[in-house]
Amino acid sequence: MGRLDIAVAGCGPAGLSAALLLHRDGHRVTLFERFDAPRPVGSGLMIQPAGRAVLRALGLEEALLAAGSRIDRLFGRAGEDGPVVLDVRYAALGGRAGFGVGIHRASLFAILHDAVHAAGVPVETGRPIAASRIEGGRRWLRFEDDSEAGPFDLVVDTLGARTPLAPPTGRALAYGALWASLDWPEEAGFDAAALEQRYRRASMMVGVLPIGTQPGRSGAQAAFFWSLRADRLDNWRANGLGPWKAEVLRLWPLLAPLLDQIEAPEQLTFARYAHRTLPEPVEPAMIHLGDAWHSASPQLGQGANMALIDAYALALALRTTQDVDAAIGRAIALRRRHVRLYQWLTALFTPVYQSDGRALPFVRDRLVGPLSRLWPATRIQAAMVAGLIGDPLGPLGL
Ligand SMILES: Cc1cc2nc3c(=O)[nH]c(=O)nc-3n(C[C@H](O)[C@H](O)[C@H](O)COP(=O)(O)OP(=O)(O)OC[C@H]3O[C@@H](n4cnc5c(N)ncnc54)[C@H](O)[C@@H]3O)c2cc1C
Repeated sequence: MGRLDIAVAGCGPAGLSAALLLHRDGHRVTLFERFDAPRPVGSGLMIQPAGRAVLRALGLEEALLAAGSRIDRLFGRAGEDGPVVLDVRYAALGGRAGFGVGIHRASLFAILHDAVHAAGVPVETGRPIAASRIEGGRRWLRFEDDSEAGPFDLVVDTLGARTPLAPPTGRALAYGALWASLDWPEEAGFDAAALEQRYRRASMMVGVLPIGTQPGRSGAQAAFFWSLRADRLDNWRANGLGPWKAEVLRLWPLLAPLLDQIEAPEQLTFARYAHRTLPEPVEPAMIHLGDAWHSASPQLGQGANMALIDAYALALALRTTQDVDAAIGRAIALRRRHVRLYQWLTALFTPVYQSDGRALPFVRDRLVGPLSRLWPATRIQAAMVAGLIGDPLGPLGL
């Protein structure tokens, strides 16, 4: 494929990695972002072995490991000392796949953004995109102030789950979560290499994920999250922190040093989740990647990883296919099976951890939890959490 003019819309993990890969392949890439200074929103997330493979290919894995926290295990109990419900060890996979990385969103953003900046990719900030149009086979972007940019041979839509470049689809989930980045409580006894959670049925869930250090700060941090039904958010705010903290501590007393750091409700950000998958993620001269194509609850912790793999698939397809529209069709073909599988798995598992039902958590605590600690369930679960079920990396040569 010759040198293309490419607009990448959005500076999230999908957009930044796509811009970097496509620039390195010799295309003329411009990034567009609505924020004046590109910045990430939210607390921490997990980069799984599947996403790490893409960052390794980009030469950014060392930076990821330096900024993040190595995660060897996902562990959850029903109540403080109740039955073990979740016990996934990446070591069951062996080799290089054998761990995840908890990282602050700002750190992941900084790693990718610094690489984009060092490569000299132009980033136009303060440019909220409203729509796109096609003319003579090339695509234009229109901004909220009615200005336009283009024409481009290809627009890569990585504007996230609420992209204005695709028709709305999917459904919002009843449950979301409150998130905060807090100082890591050194003496409290949390496992610094584990994502730990405690549950009461599926209506209550609290978790702690080590996320390394934020750019410009020295101490290690934890992402703290509390599952909450969206329609209860106003009540939660109105009731004040006191009763809520008491409820959290009843579920898991070890959290006291983390809760002590929360002095105002504004320290917690509410994230609401949606399950959506665009049935047709390609249009002439435009491809939708990352959350713009598929988004889900973060129950399996795959979203940023899928975004990175999508970006890699696009670069590979453009390298090996002669025509833009054929290439973007090929990129989707490389990803579709894995995306479908994980959208389905996440939809299946989400109610087990976030719902009002009693039957599912009962079966989870009494049957699935104990069985999942036996081989081969140990390996299957590790592969699922690692993002490796469906072999997403094989077709990409990663
Ligand atoms: C609370 C929470 C926890 C999560 N935990 C995990 C986890 O552990 N592991 C994991 O892999 N994933 C996790 N995810 C999912 C993950 O964050 C997303 O899947 C991932 O960020 C998607 O990347 P993206 O680049 O596709 O989109 P986004 O990260 O949403 O980036 C979109 C970018 O586009 C910009 N933008 C949006 N609209 C416009 C516009 N109109 N004009 C211009 N710019 C615009 C935004 O400002 C942003 O920079 C979690 C999500 C949430 C909400």
